[in-house]
Amino acid sequence: MMKLKRFLRPYRTFVFMVLVLTFVQSLATLYLPNLMSDIVDKGIIKGDVSYIIRIGFFMLGITILGGIASVWASYFAAKSSAGFGQVLRSRLFSHVEKFTLAEFDQLGTSSLIVRTTNDVMQVQQLVNMMLRMMVMAPLTAIGGIIMAVYTDAKLSLIIVVVIPVLSLAIYGILGPGMGLFRTMQKKVDHLNRVLRENLTGTRVIRSFNREAFEIQRFDQANRDLTDVSIRVYKMMAAMMPVVMLIMNISTLAIVWFGGIRINDGTLQVGNLMAFIQYVMQIMFAVMMVSMMAFMIPRGQASALRINEALAMHPEIVDPVQSQASVDHSGQVEFRDVTFRYPGAEEPALSHVSFIAQPGQITAIIGGTGSGKSTLINLIPRFHDVDSGSVVVDGMDVREMPQESLRAKLGYVPQRAVLFTGKILDNIKYGKEEATEVEILHAAEVAQAAEFIAAMPDGFHSVISQGGANISGGQKQRLAIARALVRKPEIYLFDDTFSALDYKTDAQLRLALRQEAEAATVILVAQRVSTVIEADQIIVLDEGRVVGVGTHKSLLQTCAVYQEIVSSQLSPEEIA
Ligand code: ADP
Ligand code: MG
Repeated sequence: MMKLKRFLRPYRTFVFMVLVLTFVQSLATLYLPNLMSDIVDKGIIKGDVSYIIRIGFFMLGITILGGIASVWASYFAAKSSAGFGQVLRSRLFSHVEKFTLAEFDQLGTSSLIVRTTNDVMQVQQLVNMMLRMMVMAPLTAIGGIIMAVYTDAKLSLIIVVVIPVLSLAIYGILGPGMGLFRTMQKKVDHLNRVLRENLTGTRVIRSFNREAFEIQRFDQANRDLTDVSIRVYKMMAAMMPVVMLIMNISTLAIVWFGGIRINDGTLQVGNLMAFIQYVMQIMFAVMMVSMMAFMIPRGQASALRINEALAMHPEIVDPVQSQASVDHSGQVEFRDVTFRYPGAEEPALSHVSFIAQPGQITAIIGGTGSGKSTLINLIPRFHDVDSGSVVVDGMDVREMPQESLRAKLGYVPQRAVLFTGKILDNIKYGKEEATEVEILHAAEVAQAAEFIAAMPDGFHSVISQGGANISGGQKQRLAIARALVRKPEIYLFDDTFSALDYKTDAQLRLALRQEAEAATVILVAQRVSTVIEADQIIVLDEGRVVGVGTHKSLLQTCAVYQEIVSSQLSPEEIA
């Protein structure tokens, strides 16, 4: 919680206003019972009407002042806590944006969503409450005690009995359930995860007729959350009646003992009434403090989760003294690269060495799980190598700023990711200032122009979430256009072509060869037909390079390559 305090800093003027205004409000509340006792003892009992009217108006004035202060205090508290939430959310978001794939895996996407929304909300609510209570609770408690003692010191002994009883009662009710809040946030996480999996996997669920199972799974998560929530609310529900009971018994005691003292002539009626109100105020303050003590663990649970995300520092960071490479040829070199995923037993890549020259197409082929995607992902530095080095333009990728490294690259992932919005904007994502001519050209090279033109609004057609309204191949072509529009030095295609039909695949490769004439092209492929014309083919098997060469030379020398070829092509085609 304390660590998050810094996010309130931009709003310190508002916070200050809240504190000053609640101070005024608390003073007004403390002053009123005193005036009332004056009206009763000096006005009503003595029959002095003008005094009653005078003090009456004065009380009205104080009440209005207190009311105005209270309204403005709430306003400023809302402004600062909402602002706090906004700052915190945006900080969290920009922090998470820097995460590498490893950190995403560690916390989980759903949990990160819940942390950025629900958890921030919890903390924000706590901040709001604390701002309002911070001054008010201690001031009314201490002020109330002083005023009560001042009104009747002997009767004040009642307070000494009542406050511990009240505190113990509240603690007894709320204490056992403190841990429930952390459990509750975990259940919210879980529910979100189940929901997310269901929403993204609808097709699979339906085709396997697993709806009933999934409904049951969701019900289970839902019921878990409900159970915990019910326990929390039961606890809160038990509190009010107990507190009211203690308050009423105290009033009874005050009236009882106060009555005796009035009989003795040591206490006046007005003072007794004022005294009752002071004790009420003190008890209210105690209750507020207890409520806080009870809200804080809840906010604390959320604050911890937020801090956990904030404290997680991406493993991949820019070097302290980085410099952009002066060479812009686009050469990519792997020097004896070994890489192991965190927690994996076997390295995904071992001792991989090769050079991809500019103006050439380097193709990578191999079975599934042979490490092709892993190899591609090392170039934009999505992961860092364990040993060896990845060198781009003569410089180790760990020595240059990530931004300048990635500016050289046009990356098309294995699974095309598009964003909700127009086709135009999705292509522009690759280069913000791209002109219409550039966009059209990129679409043409990517073999996407035709199907875009056939869509009702052409380039202004809207892609729905995740690109659900276009086919896999179309998505892939838009992702290619997005990379092409950048005119990068290095093209990285991760199995981009297998979603295309053979004809489009061939046309695209032809267009690409002209387009990317001077660039370095590294493409992963499953099909032999895709790699056949490549200047250099690298054959991967279980993370090792088992062959480097052209189609022809590999056919002679590489057994793994021969196997792949003979499984795909007929003997005549090979010849
Ligand atoms: P390919 O793209 O050739 O099909 P990958 O590069 O995706 O293969 O995977 C290579 C190996 O690394 C596989 O054994 C796979 O199980 C493993 N792997 C891939 N991604 C991860 C990951 N994020 N965490 C742990 N292991 C992974
Ligand atoms: Mg792959």
